[in-house]
Amino acid sequence: MRIKLYDSLSKKKKTLPSRDISFYSCGPTVYNRAHIGNFRTYVLTDVLIKFLKNAGRRVNWVMNLTDVDEKTIAATRAHYGANAGTRDLKKLTGHFTGLFKDDARALNIDPPDKLIAATSRMGEIVKNIKTLISKGYAYHYGDSIYFDIKRYHGEFRDYGKLAGRGFLSGRRARARVDLDEYDKRQVNDFVLWRGYDQKRDGNIFWDDPILGRGRPGWHIECSSISLSEFGATVDIHSGGVEHLFPHHSNEIAQSQAITGYRPFAGLWLHFEHLLVGKKKMAKSLKNFITLSDLTKKKFRSLDLRFLYLSADYKTKQNFTWEALSAAQEGRRRLLDIISRAKSGGVSTKIRREFLSALADNFNLPKAVAIFFREIENFSIQDFNWFNQILGLFRASEITEMEMVKRRLMHMLGRQLKEREAARKKGNYKKADQLRQQINRRLKREGWQLADMPEGPGLIAL
Ligand code: AMP
Ligand code: ZN
Repeated sequence: MRIKLYDSLSKKKKTLPSRDISFYSCGPTVYNRAHIGNFRTYVLTDVLIKFLKNAGRRVNWVMNLTDVDEKTIAATRAHYGANAGTRDLKKLTGHFTGLFKDDARALNIDPPDKLIAATSRMGEIVKNIKTLISKGYAYHYGDSIYFDIKRYHGEFRDYGKLAGRGFLSGRRARARVDLDEYDKRQVNDFVLWRGYDQKRDGNIFWDDPILGRGRPGWHIECSSISLSEFGATVDIHSGGVEHLFPHHSNEIAQSQAITGYRPFAGLWLHFEHLLVGKKKMAKSLKNFITLSDLTKKKFRSLDLRFLYLSADYKTKQNFTWEALSAAQEGRRRLLDIISRAKSGGVSTKIRREFLSALADNFNLPKAVAIFFREIENFSIQDFNWFNQILGLFRASEITEMEMVKRRLMHMLGRQLKEREAARKKGNYKKADQLRQQINRRLKREGWQLADMPEGPGLIAL
């Protein structure tokens, strides 16, 4: 099957290679709990990877964990005190890595083939910075080491191409920026190795005879992990849209400077953001919601997964509690239909249609609409097949739902018997009154009585 995806660098749809696929995702910064904005990106990535596997590709998926940067260091010192060292940093980031894995599991996200912490690749990072110095793309300034954009652009002529055409024109890449994250309007030499500052870093630092005491910049962490796992070119490199600049633009520059003129990624994949009240959901804006906020309100993590699947990855999605409630209702109805499905034939045509929607630039809303179109005719085998890609339910939920239904039917036992008796006698008025009474009781719990071929049963409202 030919699979096309939009490439943010060439600004065109590209056909993916028909062989195995290497896939790198920029992972979370583990200094607090990931929010549901971050998880939009990871859930969509997960659906895409499940689809690629279903379409017969072997995918090797690597995700990094940013476990050293200014935020992780500041959080460690805030928590363990000003004397906190690298071991404390490991403890803090380890804790949030655990939470990240738990949340991902609750959202039915498959674990990546490798989840790689930046601090576990310090040797690679240091080696790459030294290569950049020896090739003349990096220089010492103060206690830090910076990437020389002007030198790079003079040769490669492609700095900032991800950010849009003509990005560099009229701009000067000469100021230095010491921060990992900075504004889209700035073009600055970025830090590769950030020199130690006692007041800021306390006991958290790495020593190297050439680089000095300090810690790596964020961009070189990702480049080093991708280069060491996949060599010069990875097939797909992905992240949220805010990574177009500076993060991915800088990753491209430093990686290509290391490897020569080889492209750092075959395809650049960017996911649009989850918003709240028209603003990006972000830790820094303090407008974020976590999975535990959701479950406290009696939502299931998979209700959120269902909500994510309703919007295209290239459009912004606005989060509201109403939309989540609607997703919760929709999923309950879906579970109910699945619980009534019979074992049987396979809907080949609809499966093919579903896959070709995904093969055309991952058109998830279209694929989901195709799935819902003929849902009433699906067999259990069909539902399990679709679920391998969409990941919308767990078998245990169906059992749970069956138990709820059984409890309700038991509770209504006397009224149901009376109604049956009235019907047999031809007393339809009484039978209908009883039906109304029963439905009033059921409505509160989200159910409704239905006369199935095998006798009275319940369907979700
Ligand atoms: P961070 O932990 O901030 O480095 O972000 C981890 C991942 O989540 C990155 O791929 C980001 O692009 C993505 N991300 C951050 N905020 C949002 C959001 N509001 N909506 C969707 N993805 C996001
Ligand atoms: Zn990254």
